[in-house]
Amino acid sequence: MCFLSISRTQVHDCITSLTGVAMAVFLLGAVALAMLPGCEAEEPRRLLLVSFDGFRWDYTQRVATPNFQALVEEGVRVEHVENAFITKTFPDHYSLVTGLHVESHGIVGNLMYDRDLNLTFDMDLPDSRDPRWWDQAVPLWVTNQRAGLTSGAAMWPGSDAEIHRTYPTHFLPYNASVPFEDRVRSLVGWFAQEQPISFGVLYWEEPDISGHLLGPESPLMEPIIADIDAKLGFLRQQLKGAGLYDRVNLVITSDHGMAQMSAERLVELDAYLSRDLYTWIDKSPVVGLLPKEGKLEEVYRSLLNADPHLHVYKKEDIPERFHFSHNARIMPIVLEAVEGWTIVRNKSDAIMMGNHGYDNTLPSMHPVFVARGPAFRRRYSKASARAVDLYPLMCHILALSPEPHNGSLASVMDLLQDGPPPTPAPPPTPAPPPHRASEPAYARVLGSLMGVALVVGFLLVFLRQVTQRQLPATPVSNLEISRPLLQDHLEI
Ligand SMILES: [Zn+2]
Repeated sequence: MCFLSISRTQVHDCITSLTGVAMAVFLLGAVALAMLPGCEAEEPRRLLLVSFDGFRWDYTQRVATPNFQALVEEGVRVEHVENAFITKTFPDHYSLVTGLHVESHGIVGNLMYDRDLNLTFDMDLPDSRDPRWWDQAVPLWVTNQRAGLTSGAAMWPGSDAEIHRTYPTHFLPYNASVPFEDRVRSLVGWFAQEQPISFGVLYWEEPDISGHLLGPESPLMEPIIADIDAKLGFLRQQLKGAGLYDRVNLVITSDHGMAQMSAERLVELDAYLSRDLYTWIDKSPVVGLLPKEGKLEEVYRSLLNADPHLHVYKKEDIPERFHFSHNARIMPIVLEAVEGWTIVRNKSDAIMMGNHGYDNTLPSMHPVFVARGPAFRRRYSKASARAVDLYPLMCHILALSPEPHNGSLASVMDLLQDGPPPTPAPPPTPAPPPHRASEPAYARVLGSLMGVALVVGFLLVFLRQVTQRQLPATPVSNLEISRPLLQDHLEI
C-alpha cells in the first residue's frame, strides 16, 4: 500500500534496500540461532577411540613425542589410568568398551577355559569369535547401533565377533598384517562418508610386541615409541585433511603398560608340584590352575608358601579390589607373580623381556591417556582415573544411555567442557567464577536478545525505508538505536 504514492525508482531503491536488510537479518538470525543450545545438537557427536597396545603411561617421557604433546596442549591428559585386572590385552580392551570389571564382562584372559561350555578361548584362533565368549556384556558399538547410530571398527579386540547378534556397521576382520595407515584410512573414510559413523575404534599391535621382545627399559624401545608418535601424527593429519579434526572427539589410550622381566626372576612350579595334578590355563604373570578332580587342596597347599614372589589364591579368596573372582571362567586356583617375576614350569619355558598382567595398581601396568575434541577441556591434566570410568564418559559424549557398568561418570566429568570446574574450591571472590556450565544459559539469553533485537531492527529499518520517502525530515533517532545493535552483532 505504501508503494502507491512513490515513484518506480523509489520503489526499486526501497526493494533493493529491503532485500539487503532482509539478507542481513537472515544471516544474523542464523548466527543467533546457531548459538542456541538446541541447535548445537545438529552437529553430530563423534568419537574415535584408539588403542596402541602396551603403550605405557610414561613412554611419552622417553623420547620426543610431539604428536602426543600436541594432544596434551589441545586437550586433556590423565597421568595414571588404573586399568582392569588382569592387565592383559583382551580383558582390558573389553573393559574399555563395556565399563565392566573383568569378572563382569567374562573375557577373563587372553586364554580361557569355560567349564560350562567345555570350550577353550585363544585370542589367536578364529574360535575366539564365538559369540558365547562375548555375550556376557554389551560393547559400546552395539549400544550405539541400538540407538540408531552407526559404528566402525578397525581390528579392536572382539569387534569382528557377532555380539548380541550385532557386528559393527563397518569393520575390518582381524588381520595383523594390515598396516596402521590402512586402518586409519578406513576409519576416516567411515567418519567422512555421506552417512557417517558416530563411533569408531582403532587398534594397533605396537608397542606391545616390541615391549615383550626388548623389555620396556631397553634403549631400543625409543625408536619404537617415536614410530607410534609418528603414527599418531598420521592419524591427526588424516583427520585434518578430511575436515574432521575439530569435529571428532579423539581418545588415545592403551590396554596396559609393560614391566621389565629377567631370566633371573623365575618361579618354577615343577620344583613344588607335579604337572599331573593340574591343567595350566593362560600365561604368566597370572596363571589359572584347574586341579585334577579331588586335588584342589593338595595343589593349593603345595604352592601356598612355596615362593615369596608368588601369590596363591583360591578363587573365592582373591582380593576384592581385583574384581576377579565371580565368573565361572576364573579357575579354582589363581597364581599371581610379583612385579618383574615370571611363572614358568621350569627354565626351559620361553621367557619374555617384558610382560604385563600384574596388579593393576602398579604404575608399570598403567596405559597412556590423552584426549581432545569439542567435548574435552583444553590444557587440562588429571592425576588419576579408572579405565572403567571411560565407558560412561564416552556414552555421555555420544549422548547414549549406558548399559549397567562399574564406572563413575562423575569422577571423570571434569575432563569435559560441560563438566564441573576443574578446581574443587571456588575462588573467594563475590563474583561467581566463569565456569563452563553457565555457557548454555548465557548463549540462550544472548540468542533470545539478539533475536528480539533483530526483529525490532528489521521492523524499524523497514518502516524507515517506507516512510522516509513519504514523510520528509523524519527523525532518525529510532534508526540510530537499531543500527549499533546490528553492527555489534555482526562483529561477533
Ligand atoms: Zn602383550
